Amino acid sequence: MGKTVGIDLGTTNSVVAVMEGGEPVVITTAEGTRTVPSVVGFKSNGDRLVGVIAKRQAVVNPENTISSIKRFMGHSLGEVKDEASRVSYKIVPGKNNTVAASVPALGKELSPEEVSAMILQKLKADAEAYLGTTVDSAVITVPAYFNDAQRTATKNAGEIAGLNVLRIINEPTAAALAYGLDKKANETILVFDLGGGTFDVSVLDVGEGVFEVKATAGDSHLGGDDYDNKIVEWLVSEFKKDQGIDLNQDRAAVQRLRDAAEKAKVELSGQATTNINLPYITADATGPKHLDITVSRAKFEELTADLMERVKVPFFRALEDAKLKPTEVDEVILVGGSTRMPQVQDLVKQLTGKEPNRSVNPDEVVAVGAAIQAGVLGGEVKNIVLLDVTPLSLGVETQGGIFDKIIDRNTTIPTKKSRTYTTAVDNQPEVEINVLQGERPMAKDNKSLGRFHLQGIPPMPARMPQIEVTFDIDANGILNVVAQEKGTGSKQSITITGSGNLNRDDIERMIRDAEMNAENDRKEHELREAKNDAEKLTYSTEKTLREAGDKVDEATRQRATEKIEAVRKAVNGDDIDEIKATMAQLETESHAISEILYKHVSEQADASEGKPGASNDGDVIDADFKEEK
Ligand code: AMP
Repeated sequence: MGKTVGIDLGTTNSVVAVMEGGEPVVITTAEGTRTVPSVVGFKSNGDRLVGVIAKRQAVVNPENTISSIKRFMGHSLGEVKDEASRVSYKIVPGKNNTVAASVPALGKELSPEEVSAMILQKLKADAEAYLGTTVDSAVITVPAYFNDAQRTATKNAGEIAGLNVLRIINEPTAAALAYGLDKKANETILVFDLGGGTFDVSVLDVGEGVFEVKATAGDSHLGGDDYDNKIVEWLVSEFKKDQGIDLNQDRAAVQRLRDAAEKAKVELSGQATTNINLPYITADATGPKHLDITVSRAKFEELTADLMERVKVPFFRALEDAKLKPTEVDEVILVGGSTRMPQVQDLVKQLTGKEPNRSVNPDEVVAVGAAIQAGVLGGEVKNIVLLDVTPLSLGVETQGGIFDKIIDRNTTIPTKKSRTYTTAVDNQPEVEINVLQGERPMAKDNKSLGRFHLQGIPPMPARMPQIEVTFDIDANGILNVVAQEKGTGSKQSITITGSGNLNRDDIERMIRDAEMNAENDRKEHELREAKNDAEKLTYSTEKTLREAGDKVDEATRQRATEKIEAVRKAVNGDDIDEIKATMAQLETESHAISEILYKHVSEQADASEGKPGASNDGDVIDADFKEEK
């Protein structure tokens, strides 16, 4: 059985951690870092790049580079209209009105699940390399405020990547687990998680191994990216004022502005002013244009004041739902890179009157918590109980388009609740169950997670049939709905696959694609290694021949040269067997040359009691035949 890891699949960065000897350990990636940028890019030949290498080429290849895909997980097209303009790649409508990223280099579209799976595959491979064993399952975190469609999409992404997703847990809960693992006394903790693309506030009671989430609230469209965009908008408008050119029309320029804006934002966390200097940002008939502007922290705070107002809303709602005053919180934990902004820290201090706790690295705390939960599920970590809640109310649409709640938000999960409904007209043969998630009183204002029909209701006057609808939320926060007509026992159920999700067939196809890709990647790697070895061999044999001069007879030289040519020809192609076969032949020749040279050297040594200057290390001779003076 393979290992289970904990994964923080972040909007901006992702982290993988594992329990080792009872302690959570963050895994160092193949690139030697502890976080992986959640960026996937494609070269013009379709080669896939994930992480830091994908991020690095984003400026020169924006239309084939996908970042912040988490924002689109589990979304239908209507929900991302305003987002489409923010990303450098194109979001296109897919089946069931789902969204997909159009990748010109591949000539096809990728669903957000597939893109996320590519990030997860990289984390899995890095973890396997680090652990020296297979990784086959994972606990993956999501923002507490993720709805059912977004959770299911995340679970599907894990499956596509070849991971058995043992549990989906909420990021703030994971953070609390990491923070409170050793806490004995009872405490009320507020986790304030402002990441790259999402914002979550959770209130938990922690003590003696029990982690009970009291309330959670958030905004799944608020994060560091929005702060960057405020700077980008400002830069665009200043540049327009100054130069009369709209940089928004130039994709590469926008990507450069975005990178520079993020950098400036990060710098402003540590200093009062910073300079944004982008030479050759664009050009017009009069020549190249440069952007050079100074931004102060005060200006940045002015530009982002409305975002700080948005932050307050979920903060107060979580506390209100937990029936607590801000000052009753014992400990505030800051999670997510965006909590490094002084204005965010000041706001938290001002609201709670507490100095925030930053004892666990905010970039790693979520993955660490996920690894702990993996340990709990694997039996490695004992005496920990996690009681999480559902972040949004769930229910059905009833007569007149009214949203009837069956499970209230902040109910501890897993949970199961039923309610009985009836028909509206005489002899109604079927009812449509529209499953909704949200807080608004009217059905149309909430998210429809899916619809299904309960058929076969026998002819009866209105209000006679008894239709029992049961909502069952599992520990992942994923919903299953069953409707049953009590008289006949006729039953219909669905595991919600909301509008933003994939159907089973799609998922299976994607799993196969991913596996194939892993296989292709492996083959590609082998081919590259073989080519590399072949090039080394031809190089060293040629060098030996050159240096051997007339010590090697013409016939041998001729044969070796032919074999070198054969290897070269094979290297130009992609047939690994051909490369290996020609290499084997060249190796035989190379050995023959070595023998000749060796013989020559020992004869010389015998003759002059000299010191041979040759060394034969393995099958390739790298000789220096100059006599030592
Ligand atoms: P996360 O999703 O938790 O990895 O957070 C990523 C976000 O944090 C990105 O928007 C980063 O720009 C932002 N971030 C990272 N470090 C800082 C910093 N020192 N100051 C402000 N924002 C930061």
